Amino acid sequence: MYSVYIPEEIIKDKNLIPLWEKVKASVPVSEDDLRLMLSTDDVMGLGAIASYVRTAVNGRRGFYGVNMNLNYTNICELRCPLCAFSCDSGDPRAYIYSLDEIESRVKAEADKGIDEVHIVGGLHPDLKLDYFEEMLRRIKKIKSDMFIVAFTAVEYDYFAKINNISIEEVFRRLIDAGLGALPGGGAEIFAEEKRSVIAPKKISGKRWLEIMKIAHSFGLKTNATLLYNHIEDMDDIVHHLSELRAVQDETGGFKTFVPLSYHDENTGIKAKKKSSTGFDDIRLYASARIYLHNIPHIKALWMYIGEKMAQVLLNFGVDDIGATYNYEQVVHSAGAATADYGSEQFLRRLIESAGFEPERVTAAYEVKK
Ligand code: SF4
Repeated sequence: MYSVYIPEEIIKDKNLIPLWEKVKASVPVSEDDLRLMLSTDDVMGLGAIASYVRTAVNGRRGFYGVNMNLNYTNICELRCPLCAFSCDSGDPRAYIYSLDEIESRVKAEADKGIDEVHIVGGLHPDLKLDYFEEMLRRIKKIKSDMFIVAFTAVEYDYFAKINNISIEEVFRRLIDAGLGALPGGGAEIFAEEKRSVIAPKKISGKRWLEIMKIAHSFGLKTNATLLYNHIEDMDDIVHHLSELRAVQDETGGFKTFVPLSYHDENTGIKAKKKSSTGFDDIRLYASARIYLHNIPHIKALWMYIGEKMAQVLLNFGVDDIGATYNYEQVVHSAGAATADYGSEQFLRRLIESAGFEPERVTAAYEVKK
């Protein structure tokens, strides 16, 4: 049996008590409750409630993955102000991986025993769908049970447009080539006023959610992200989480919610704070765990938030600290100070020394040994 927390003894902010009563009775908390959680200074009380939910859903397990990152090109038509990773085709930093290069990169990591390849990249007009189909097929040929988590909703929308086919057709063809699940990138902040500043050419939040619903209708599980610590305010965060919870009520297709703390180095948008504070992070992750009662996992990507904070957050509602992520380039272009690789031992140690039981999984939470 898992130990059950007794938050009443810990909750100092008495305004949290009514929402704790709802949590105990399995009643979804309201948007007003979410505002309260996002502004309380009682992070220990909030954390106790989040831990209660986390324990009920995921026990003492702490999930991690053994994977590699594949960012196939950094050339992108959109050049979002929030992005430090992308560049124009004439830029000295510009690159596109050939299919042979991708094959040899994946082979090298497969030989080391990875379970999964995580693929995202820029929007490049010359890369047509056959390049991506062949990419996935070659990866599956290297290791037939390699799990492929690939392409954000923004990329799917672009693939449909430049190939002049429907989103459904894109999914059908990529599933046939080996697609296993979708990462949650591109969600940023759904509120249009802020979205139009940080990513003016990106698909709308509404379109992002529509594409996720289509992915869910194909049986694909997906993640969902939220980018915070840029120009958003609390109402934007409440709106974002409410939209996700509503779609999840309809489809049940979101596996994991992944808040991403914004890094502003080399970008066109200055962050509110150089980095979010520990209290900001705790409030957001714990509130998300409580509010998103219908999404099973809350992930704190150690590479974004730092390994020490990711470990602490395991006690504040988080059950997944991310993966080994060999060769991550997106957040490191924006100034993340973490290493661009974490060994399996390193991740297990973070989870174990926080008092949890490490479990190695794919993005679909299939257990791997
Ligand atoms: S955030 Fe994505 S869509 Fe925007 S410029 Fe960067 S790679 Fe392109």
